[in-house]
Amino acid sequence: MVENKVVFITGAASGIGYEIGVEFAKNGAKVVFSDIDEAKVKDVTETLKQDGYECIGIKCDVTKEEEIQQAIDLTVEKYGRLDVLFNNAGLQHVASIEDFPTEKFEFITKVMLVAPFIATKHAFPIMKKQGFGRIINMASINGLIGFAGKAAYNSSKHGVIGLTKVAALEGAEHGITVNAVCPGYVDTPLVRNQMEDLAANRNVSVEKVLEDVIYPLVPQKRLLKVQEVADYSMFLASDKSKGVTGQAVVIDGGYTAQ
Ligand code: NAD
Repeated sequence: MVENKVVFITGAASGIGYEIGVEFAKNGAKVVFSDIDEAKVKDVTETLKQDGYECIGIKCDVTKEEEIQQAIDLTVEKYGRLDVLFNNAGLQHVASIEDFPTEKFEFITKVMLVAPFIATKHAFPIMKKQGFGRIINMASINGLIGFAGKAAYNSSKHGVIGLTKVAALEGAEHGITVNAVCPGYVDTPLVRNQMEDLAANRNVSVEKVLEDVIYPLVPQKRLLKVQEVADYSMFLASDKSKGVTGQAVVIDGGYTAQ
């Protein structure tokens, strides 16, 4: 489905971005893993190269427009095209609005909303010239419903769904599709760490925390696998999804159906 596609992913040194990048590479794509953590992204891509996958690892701090521009240029220099832009980099801070430092709100929004806008701006001319492009924005169920304590994360994820719709309209006549993926609770090191902290505070097992806190919220009563997000992303990146654009695709085990 994604064989020979040239894919550029942000925030790909760890977590969902890394695992999705690996899935693309396993399925024959040429993948540019980028991240603010240069050492880590170089390290993980060296291992993948030794395993025979076509990829490179580069530094790209998405809060810096010139680094996004350079990373996209480097992708085209190395592989001759840019088929898929995957805006994945993200971070969060939890605090009530009254206690939320304004600079932190601005910074998180810069990483998760302004950066996808800038990357789209620089990818568009290349994709228009090719007459083909796939842009995937990593949103979340936090982009569809509110969660107390997550003002910046929620606002950015809601915003990136808006950006997705506008970009879809502007790319529509040029063979470019733009979609957002909205995962619920995914089994990642980040989520596991949060569960471990909660378990330690309550002096119970991680499984007990999942049963008491997470599973009551998720009709399928499980954490999602990154593979499920990767499979959907590969469909969105492929030629088969031509008619799907401007959508926020939800993969949440039924969370938002309630
Ligand atoms: P993670 O912390 O494991 O990975 C995030 C990556 O982004 C890290 O490698 C980090 O170095 C990088 N990053 C942070 N700031 C950056 C910057 N300024 N420039 C470039 N890279 C930067 O987190 P994750 O759970 O894998 O989350 C990845 C994305 O998936 C985020 O957008 C997140 O909102 C989204 N998401 C995660 C879940 C989940 O359950 N984990 C659910 C829904 C959506």
